[in-house]
Amino acid sequence: MSLFAVREKSPRRREFLTQLRQFGCDVIDIEPEHRFDGEVVKIGFESLSRELSTITGWAREQFSTRPINSRIGIVCPHIGELAQQIKRSFEATFWDCHSIDSIVHIGSGAPLRETRLCQDVIKFLEWTVQTLDYSEVIQLGRSPFLPELEIPEVFTNSYHERFDLQYYLGKQNKELKAKLQSLTLLRGNRNRSVNEWVDLLVRALKVLGWENHKDVTVNQQARAEILQVFSEVLKLSPLVGQITWSFMVNIVRVSLLQHTMKSESKFTPIQVVSREQSAGMQFDALWVLGNADTQWPPPMQPNAMIPLPVQREAQVHRVTYPNLLDWAHNLTLLWSHSAPRVIFSYVDEEQEDIQSEVAVSQLLATFPEATLSTLISEPGSVSHDHPWARHMKDENYINEYFSDFGTKVSQTDTRFSTSILRNQSQCPFRAWGIHRVGIKDQQAPYRFPDAIERGNILHALIQELLEIAKNQIGISKLTEEVIIEVITKVLEDRLDNLPRQFIDQETERLKKVVNQWIEFECDRAPFEVMEVEEYQEIGLGGVSMWYKIDRIDKLDDGSVLVIDLKTGTVNRGDWHLPRLGDTQMPLYATAVPDCKGLTYLLFNRGKPNRFMGYGELETVIKGIDGVSNKFQMSWDDVKQAWKVELENLIKSYFAGDAYVDPVRPNVCRNCHLMSI
Ligand code: SF4
Repeated sequence: MSLFAVREKSPRRREFLTQLRQFGCDVIDIEPEHRFDGEVVKIGFESLSRELSTITGWAREQFSTRPINSRIGIVCPHIGELAQQIKRSFEATFWDCHSIDSIVHIGSGAPLRETRLCQDVIKFLEWTVQTLDYSEVIQLGRSPFLPELEIPEVFTNSYHERFDLQYYLGKQNKELKAKLQSLTLLRGNRNRSVNEWVDLLVRALKVLGWENHKDVTVNQQARAEILQVFSEVLKLSPLVGQITWSFMVNIVRVSLLQHTMKSESKFTPIQVVSREQSAGMQFDALWVLGNADTQWPPPMQPNAMIPLPVQREAQVHRVTYPNLLDWAHNLTLLWSHSAPRVIFSYVDEEQEDIQSEVAVSQLLATFPEATLSTLISEPGSVSHDHPWARHMKDENYINEYFSDFGTKVSQTDTRFSTSILRNQSQCPFRAWGIHRVGIKDQQAPYRFPDAIERGNILHALIQELLEIAKNQIGISKLTEEVIIEVITKVLEDRLDNLPRQFIDQETERLKKVVNQWIEFECDRAPFEVMEVEEYQEIGLGGVSMWYKIDRIDKLDDGSVLVIDLKTGTVNRGDWHLPRLGDTQMPLYATAVPDCKGLTYLLFNRGKPNRFMGYGELETVIKGIDGVSNKFQMSWDDVKQAWKVELENLIKSYFAGDAYVDPVRPNVCRNCHLMSI
């Protein structure tokens, strides 16, 4: 029987060899022959990217100048973390090859944590022991691997802002609860053995559908690796005994984060291998990187889950410094005899975080320093970190291209809405992003009402009161009992899940707001309320859209006033032409042909109610100014100009206009597309 690569003898390997001896086998240690006594040099680089681009350039040169069956070795620490960077560097160096896979083998797979499946499993585990905010939960709901969680795209405000898995399960219907019954066991302080927890976890993942994803290859490999991590975790069972679910989640999480996926080994002329894999291998040319003083010998890495004294007693390798130094020294010696020419490299730079200069490892002290020109025939070719970097500017490899237009909207698509109109006016790119591409703003569910919800409550309250009192006299006769009854109804409809104390406070606040509003309405000239919050449809510019006006009043002289309730900051300057900051009121003016005035009715905290608008009514209503000063036109001409502008906006949306042009800088402040 031959065993290879057993230079480092773990407790299990030692036990195995002891057993062999006890069964009467002769166990003979054979050290690899030192075949080469060639040149060994070292070289420093100012950055990792310069080091990598030199190595890949050197590897290409070796590959081109050596016989076809030569083996070029590169030994790399942290190969899992650097694998993608190394691959990109090789792809740039071998830019004329269709694929580098037949030339270079990077002997380590990617870290498991980089797979979507692993990330989703970790997030799910975290959700079982802690609350996540709604956007994290929605992200988890989009996982193709855990479809049976049935997480919706939007949460209503009956959910808390942050919640855990058990809270989520508690709010689901009977069928889903029954289906996900097994998940309720992943909780609490009850102690179980690691075996039991792993069993429950695997069953839970099955129930969630992690086996059903259609991308079989990727999913299968990641799933197999995760199962392997679980079986590694099982080995801790005798050491940790009975543990809580939170402790179990910690163990699994750390193990998943540290795991590197296996890669298929295959023969290629250039082999990038880890330090451990390289022991005993022979090459025609070898480059060993990562030999700074801080990297070689590496720090000790005892198993985080097993007490250190136990590991020392069991003589687990590399848990004492002498043991580690001995291993590093032997490996350095082995490398230096593994090829006719061996190059050790290190990054010799001031590391920002430790503020000190990094020198070469003392284990390489006896090797002479080399210069770049002795290692590579064209040192200039690697002096830009990336082989393409020097071409970028001169040869225009990168062109910048901006387009102000999206594709046109189909002629047959006549769906339109007031929000498209407003967004197209405020910023065409925003309209395109939201209504064409579908990048919706995700509102967090909230427990206590925010400013928007408070505004909605006030709208509902005034609407209810105006259903009871249709004119000034009726409003003046509203009694306290009626007002409280209406407030209670509105609050119960919307805030029934909130504490009684909060509802009482809100009732008091709204009572004051309503009394102040009644005072304001009684101070005005007489009026009749014609419409309150009624949906209407308008045809404009070849499309139709629905709108809802808060309120339309008929004044004593028969003229019509359109009123919009506002609780936040607004500015009637938004109705000024040539470009509208808000299309809502100009649209109402177009939709209600006989309207003689448009106004906001302001409900600003701590201030009396007031009108803010434009019309022909300035002589009779305070706060509503004539248009002649601002617009230099008659009221009818202003309405006509608004109509033309609205039609132009509809046309520009259908033509695909999507230029980035906010009507004023503060439009961007609340825009969720800012990051784009
Ligand atoms: S952030 Fe500003 S510029 Fe960008 S889409 Fe939103 S409104 Fe337009």
